[in-house]
Amino acid sequence: METKKWLVEDIHLSYPQIKEAAEWIKANEVVAFPTETVYGLGANAYSSEAVGKIFKAKGRPSDNPLIIHISTMEQLEMLVTDIPETAKKLINKFWPGPLTIVLNKGVGIADNVTAGLSTVAIRMPDHPIALAIISEANLPIAAPSANVSGKPSPTTAQHVETDLNGKIAGIVDGGATGVGLESTVVDCTTEVPMILRPGGVTREQLEEVIGLVTVDPALEEDGQAPKSPGLKYKHYAPNAKLVLVEGSTAFLQKQVFLAKDSGKKVGVLTTNENKVNYEADVILPCGTAGNLQSVAQHLYEVLRKFDEYELDVIYSETFPEVGVGKAVMNRLTKAAGGDILSEFRV
Ligand code: AMP
Ligand code: MG
Repeated sequence: METKKWLVEDIHLSYPQIKEAAEWIKANEVVAFPTETVYGLGANAYSSEAVGKIFKAKGRPSDNPLIIHISTMEQLEMLVTDIPETAKKLINKFWPGPLTIVLNKGVGIADNVTAGLSTVAIRMPDHPIALAIISEANLPIAAPSANVSGKPSPTTAQHVETDLNGKIAGIVDGGATGVGLESTVVDCTTEVPMILRPGGVTREQLEEVIGLVTVDPALEEDGQAPKSPGLKYKHYAPNAKLVLVEGSTAFLQKQVFLAKDSGKKVGVLTTNENKVNYEADVILPCGTAGNLQSVAQHLYEVLRKFDEYELDVIYSETFPEVGVGKAVMNRLTKAAGGDILSEFRV
């Protein structure tokens, strides 16, 4: 299949491109487009045939449900059985934005969107192109990240092309995304809402609006099955083995020398502040340590960049788990398959 590219530099001047992309979604094709978090791969959420194409193109396990993207509150009401008070408050505060809310599923949604669950995950993205495509298609659009399953999520149209060219109908290129990490997923079907996946909106921000919010225990302890099915899979991984290193720059450098002694080609994932402290084959800074938002924004781009160097191993610094640092560490830990070396624990 040839993948069509639509370049959208200006939302108003490029409306014919948006209209065409929306037409293709209405015709049950899959089309990638930017959101404020990462690029999504969108399909008509009412059509199991269209949604099936997402799973096929990504190689996504069929038990991993998709997030439905909407542009109006009327669409939300049609997709769920009820909207609890907690969800209403969160919607008022954070939509459009990087917050996905899990609610009880209504009728009509294709079964493969929710992987057979009785709940459905929904969000309203804060990106003019995403909102224009949804409005123009006049459909709820199921859209996971537009990468091959297991790879880092795409933050540019080029990343989407690398992974999915020839496998999807089209890509809307609207430049680099802003947040850089996927949405926070919060389950509002329980009395006390629970964070199933950390993301751009932090627990502290949610608690300011609705009081107590719990966190899926599986996110903090090993050996428990996560409530968000997607989180049990290895994800975001670069080609080379990734190892997280907790401790001083000297301790990380020591790991680099040990690996080099055994003939390995070694990369280091660090920050603008720390990059001068290392000697390795490839050193890539990921934002500035003083600004975790910038680390989040560049993380996937840097993980993908390492694939250009044919490395054997990448040693990565760790980040404080405060605010968006929680989501950064959640993604890095997944990417490393849980492989962590600590200077403080033996
Ligand atoms: P992605 O679409 O790649 O950003 O991943 C969506 C995430 O939301 C995955 O981790 C899914 O497991 C999770 N998710 C989607 N729907 C539900 C649901 N109904 N209940 C719990 N988690 C969900
Ligand atoms: Mg994804």
